[in-house]
Amino acid sequence: MPLPDTATELPTPSDLERDPFRFGFVNTYARLPERLYARLNPTPVAAPRLIKVNVELSRTLGLDPQALASNTGVEILAGNRIPIDAEPLALAYAGHQFGHFVPQLGDGRTNLLGEVIARDGARYDIQLKGSGPTPFSRRGDGRAALGPVLREYLVSEAMAALGVPTTRALAAVTTGERVLREVELPGAILTRVAASHLRVGTFQYFAAQGDTEAIRVLADYAIARHYPEAANAQQPYRALLDGVIARQASLIAQWMLLGFVHGVMNTDNSSISGETIDYGPCAFMEAYDPNMVFSSIDRQGRYSYSNQPHAAHWNLARLAESLLPLMTQEAGSEETALAAAYDALAAFSNQFEAARSAGLRRKLGLATERAGDTELAHDLLGRMAANHADFTLTFRRLCDAAAMPEADLAVRALFADPTAYDSWAMQWRQRLQQESVSTQQRTTSMRIANPLFIPRNHMVEDAIDAAVERKDFQPFEQLLAVVTDPFEYRPNLERYSSPARPEQRVSQTFCGT
Ligand code: AMP
Ligand code: MG
Repeated sequence: MPLPDTATELPTPSDLERDPFRFGFVNTYARLPERLYARLNPTPVAAPRLIKVNVELSRTLGLDPQALASNTGVEILAGNRIPIDAEPLALAYAGHQFGHFVPQLGDGRTNLLGEVIARDGARYDIQLKGSGPTPFSRRGDGRAALGPVLREYLVSEAMAALGVPTTRALAAVTTGERVLREVELPGAILTRVAASHLRVGTFQYFAAQGDTEAIRVLADYAIARHYPEAANAQQPYRALLDGVIARQASLIAQWMLLGFVHGVMNTDNSSISGETIDYGPCAFMEAYDPNMVFSSIDRQGRYSYSNQPHAAHWNLARLAESLLPLMTQEAGSEETALAAAYDALAAFSNQFEAARSAGLRRKLGLATERAGDTELAHDLLGRMAANHADFTLTFRRLCDAAAMPEADLAVRALFADPTAYDSWAMQWRQRLQQESVSTQQRTTSMRIANPLFIPRNHMVEDAIDAAVERKDFQPFEQLLAVVTDPFEYRPNLERYSSPARPEQRVSQTFCGT
């Protein structure tokens, strides 16, 4: 089924006079039934100022970065001016938050402006986050503070550079207004780009209302937009479920391979397209600890590092439940549909483990797959955990150690008891000898599996502090430049690749609200 495109009308000369900046929106969500969203414009802000335009992403989307950075552009990015072809919407969704179902969440502080077709032909949502109250705001003010906006900008762009499916940051502006959190903070708006904003919670919203027709509309839309191959399957809704499960399994494996902790894996933050979405209290681990939790509100460790695959599986089970009425119709009976749903969900852990094992082999420089490889990798992880070894640096330094044993020194130095590394390294070297790739080839492939630069929490906090306390955006700019080129060694950047000293350590992060 094709997406319900709007007829694209050419701008008239008077349109262009009124609005020199055109996104070229081709909106499809706005054509869906009205009960899926609320139409409303962003609420203007006092004094918008540009923080950043993502030049490379603008070009990928076919947008002119200079126009975005112009006065008119900044007014649009702040919600003070609506581009002529935009149809601003706040999307309806529900969600399980820490296991508790909330039947109505929805976009409480964002406006979808519209959809653009990028140069590569892919469709993207352009959304303002922090753009004012909506019918879904509940008790919130509809705004975002500068700190969380900068954190999302940095971390989502780092994730993209690391090759992880993610929403992107197209721009950030300050609003010239204060937002009241525990204290008063400068307000800001992020322009977020996503393959779509469909979430598990979007399906749950209508499932909770028994609105099977809306679920069908959403499912058909998700298939057309993200899983076109499912349309030709014998059971398209089962195929949709399979597709989402496969992408989530691969996504979570990628998080795990980078030491990334999302922090709020609620069903409303679980994307149907398989992108990382909603950067709140997320962080990258430094010392490897499988039980790591950063979020101040996650007291039970529900979304700890090693619980992430379980949390994703749990969320996917909620998606399966929501799709069950459609799957029942296509399977002929509820019993058959249930069996199909269990079957689909059962595939998650194998897919996740396979993706993680393949990734761990790449990280260890193993081009082939042998029995014992996964155990070898987990043995290393166990030793890293026991010895508080820095996750990112351990793997990065293995790239050199694989080529020359002298480089062991630098790896050993990361372990509280360096001999824990030595005995593992002996087994690893024996295994490497069974490979036939050249040392050069191995080093090259290891370096693109093991980043040198991740957005370390204390560096992110420093960048945020400088911007919030001193209106100094230089540390943000510098950190952004480093983390968006994560694999390439450059001299004089040691402070970005080094773990926090004890007094710099940031062990807790706070929700973005
Ligand atoms: P999050 O924790 O950011 O995923 O948000 C969970 C829900 O709370 C979503 O429905 C958001 O739209 C809503 N929300 C978060 N912050 C605000 C805010 N400042 N004003 C209104 N709604 C908000
Ligand atoms: Mg959210």
